[in-house]
Amino acid sequence: MGDILRDIFLGFIRAHLLHHAAKRPIFGTEMIEELRHHGYDLSPGTLYPTLHKLEKGGFLACEKRIVEGKLRKYYHATPEGLRLLEKVRAKVRELTREIISHRVPAAGPFAEPTRAKAAKAVSGRKKAASARTAPRKARMPRSRS
Ligand SMILES: [Zn+2]
Repeated sequence: MGDILRDIFLGFIRAHLLHHAAKRPIFGTEMIEELRHHGYDLSPGTLYPTLHKLEKGGFLACEKRIVEGKLRKYYHATPEGLRLLEKVRAKVRELTREIISHRVPAAGPFAEPTRAKAAKAVSGRKKAASARTAPRKARMPRSRS
């Protein structure tokens, strides 16, 4: 189970990193701290390769700054990273709706009505999706200075 859980959590962690890097430039140690608040105990040996992978994929850009005499790498989301974040958001929304909001019993006396309700929710979702025509303005990362 450990490996599977780790795979799933790594996806969540990537989503967190993208989210924070879209708001403002982030750096490694503060993200380890931030993710600890969310219940992830992450070592630098896991975090840095994850950041580098996002950078290599063109989703994060790195900027080196000298802070208190030491070189620090800041990462911010690129336009490609912002587009990826939008896709991730849509999937998280969908997943939350499915596994958190609409937790249904696998079987039982309410199986049929629940299924009908779920079908209704799907058609409502389609309407909502078609109403959303104008793309939302992408937030650009702001510099901290
Ligand atoms: Zn966070």
